[in-house]
Formats: sequence, C-alpha cells, structure tokens
Amino acid sequence: MTTSPEQRLTTDLANSQKQVEQLSQEVLELYRQVNLLYRLGDVFCAGLQTDEVCARLITESTKVVRAKSAHVVLGDGRVFGNVGETPTSKLSVAIETPQGRVGEITLVDKKRGFFTAADEKLIRAVARQAGVALENSRRIEALTQQNEALERLNDELRVIDQMKSDFVSNVSHELRTPLASIKGFAATILEDRDMPEEVSREFVTIINDESDKLIVIINDLLDVSRMMSGHMEYHIRRQSLAPTLQDVVALLRIQGDSKGLKLSLNIVDDVPLDIDPTRMSQVFINLVGNAIKFTERGSIALKMMATDDEVRVSVSDTGIGIEEDLLPHIFDKFYRVENIVHTKEGTGIGLALVRGIVDYHGGRIEVESRLGVGTMFTVYLPRTERSTTGSMNSAPESNESIA
Ligand code: ADP
Repeated sequence: MTTSPEQRLTTDLANSQKQVEQLSQEVLELYRQVNLLYRLGDVFCAGLQTDEVCARLITESTKVVRAKSAHVVLGDGRVFGNVGETPTSKLSVAIETPQGRVGEITLVDKKRGFFTAADEKLIRAVARQAGVALENSRRIEALTQQNEALERLNDELRVIDQMKSDFVSNVSHELRTPLASIKGFAATILEDRDMPEEVSREFVTIINDESDKLIVIINDLLDVSRMMSGHMEYHIRRQSLAPTLQDVVALLRIQGDSKGLKLSLNIVDDVPLDIDPTRMSQVFINLVGNAIKFTERGSIALKMMATDDEVRVSVSDTGIGIEEDLLPHIFDKFYRVENIVHTKEGTGIGLALVRGIVDYHGGRIEVESRLGVGTMFTVYLPRTERSTTGSMNSAPESNESIA
C-alpha cells in the first residue's frame, strides 16, 4: 500500500512531536535531579549525627516522590521512621557509602499512582548523599569517642601521677622516721661513754626494732616491684593454713596488746590447701597489721571456715571503717585514704600485695566496712588441687630480700 506525501508528512510530524515531548520530559527530569542534588548539599550539611541524617533522608525522600511515609533500617539494626501497615506500593533503595552498604530506605504508598523508575533514580540520588553524610557522622562519632577515651586516660594518668608523688612522700616519711630514731640512739650511745649498760641495751633494742621496721618496708617495696614485673617467687605446697594464721596472731599479739585490743583466732574447719605459706603469712600480717593500726578500741577476730570448694578466712575489726565510695580503690597500688594519710603510718602498697598474692593462689579478697563501726576483709582460697606446684616466675636477679 502506497502512502501519499501528505500522509508521510503527518506521520513524521507526529513522531517528531512525540520525540520532543519525550525530550522535554527527560529535560524536566534532569532539571529536577540537578535541583535536588543542589539542594541536598544544604540538607546533608556537615556535622550531622546519625539520627539527624536519617530523619532528613526520610523527609527529603518522601517529599521528592510524594510518598505517604518512609523508614530507614541501618546495618546495625537501628530503625528510623514509621514502619507502617501492609502497603499498596513500596520502593526500597540501598544506602551506600564508599565502604559499602550501610542500610536501606523504604518509601511506602505513593500519594498518586505507583513508584516509577524515575522515582527510584531520585531516591538513589538522595540515598547516596545520605550515605556520605552517614559516613561523615560515623567518623565524627569515632573521633569523639577516641577523644573521650583519651581524656579519661589523661584523667587516670593525672590520678596515678598524684598517687606516685604521694607515694614518694609517704615512703620518704616512712623511712625517715625509723632512720632518725636509729641515728639518734646510736649517736647517744657513742657520745655517752658512761652510759649504764641497761640504758644502752634499751637503746640498742630500739635500734633493732626500728631496723626491723625498715626491713619490712623495703621488702614490701621489693615485692611490689617484683609483682609488677611478674617476677614474684612462689613455693606452693599442700598444707593447712592454720599454722600460718596461728604464727601471725602470735607475732602481732604484742602489737595488739599495746593498744589494749583483743586478738582472737577461730579455726572452724581445717583442710589442706595449695599455698605458699610465706606469702600467705604476708597476706595475713598485712590484714591483721592494718586492723590493729586502724582500730583504737575493741577487738580483731580471725575466723577460718570451709565449704565444699573453698576456704574462707575473715579478718574483722571494730575500727574506724572505710567510706563506701573509697572501698573499690583500697587495693590499688599506692592508694591511701586521704583524710587519714597524715595521721597513720603506711605506704599504700600492703593491700595491693595482698590482692596480688591471693590472685596468684586462684582466690579472691572482698571487703565490707562501715564508718565508725569496723571493717571485715575476707580471703577466699580454692580447695581444688593445683596442677603446677613449686617455684614460679623466678628471676634470680630480682629476688633478693633484706633479712
Ligand atoms: P597502708 O600502708 O596505707 O596501710 P594499705 O594498702 O595496706 O596501705 O591500705 C590502703 C588503705 O586502706 C589504708 O591507707 C587505709 O586507709 C585503708 N585500710 C586498710 N585496712 C583498713 C582497716 N582495717 N580499717 C580501716 N581502713 C583500712
């Protein structure tokens, strides 16, 4: 069938008109996209937090495609926006960042008609911008967290620094007092040639006692430094703890008596344990020594009991007590309760040593205290047999003690 030139012209005209309409549609679409991208720069401005980015993503997306609602689900499970009822139409687009997909936005129910491929294109553009903003906010949040962690670390370092300064001044004080006494009595003996023998014996006894005090302090210092470097030596044996406790009570009884304090030991159960008796004696000398130091009247009671799987030894006193909020710190190295720091002797390392030794034995130590009423330390030691016994972590060069 032949067509006349007029008919061909009409068909060409109709085709050209269609093409022009299509092109105008595309130009309009491009214009909307450019306009949208231009605006998104302001919408997803710098410094937004994750929830703000998601809220803006939802508002912008619903606006550009005229959806009824939208919601965002992030990769970490967080959901923003309304997750509605069963929708009639739905459009889901991934939110991408240079590191990959971080979530998805879902548009629900277009106000007029259904979602089109052009809608999807527009939402992709919005989601891409949101992805960049989310990545920025993630970086900012990570930096803020790092910053906060650094600030916390800095605060802790400041506290440690202060504790070290206090420690140096406490140790100097602790060493100076017996040294001054030793020097004073020795000089007096030297100068006074006619000193009666009983007086010089009394002075020499004081010199001897003060030297013992120095030895205890220096040995504690050496032990703490060994413990910090993991070179503390242990000799584990299977034996009862009772003789160790009896020796400690016998050793410290005179000290308790001099303050009028009643010292008692109650062994309810006596079972063999894997312990280093010398280190255990160090633990209880420290606990009972502290109890005597911080008690002015009343009594100090030691009690040993056993359950099926552990042995419990408590040391309780009727002394000054410790404030509740300070309790978590008393086992820290160099820690001393501020208000009594200048009135009582001490270096703040005793309880750190005690805890280290108890930890090594696989046990734990707990403390209960009431201000003005008293304090009770309880040491728990496991009854299970240890697979390794004998000397552990020995480092010959750092194991010297003053005898
Ligand atoms: P210190 O050499 O100062 O006694 P410790 O490490 O043995 O060091 O004890 C730390 C702090 O815990 C002490 O300074 C003291 O404030 C507190 N403390 C320990 N035992 C007692 C106790 N039985 N009663 C009251 N306070 C105690």
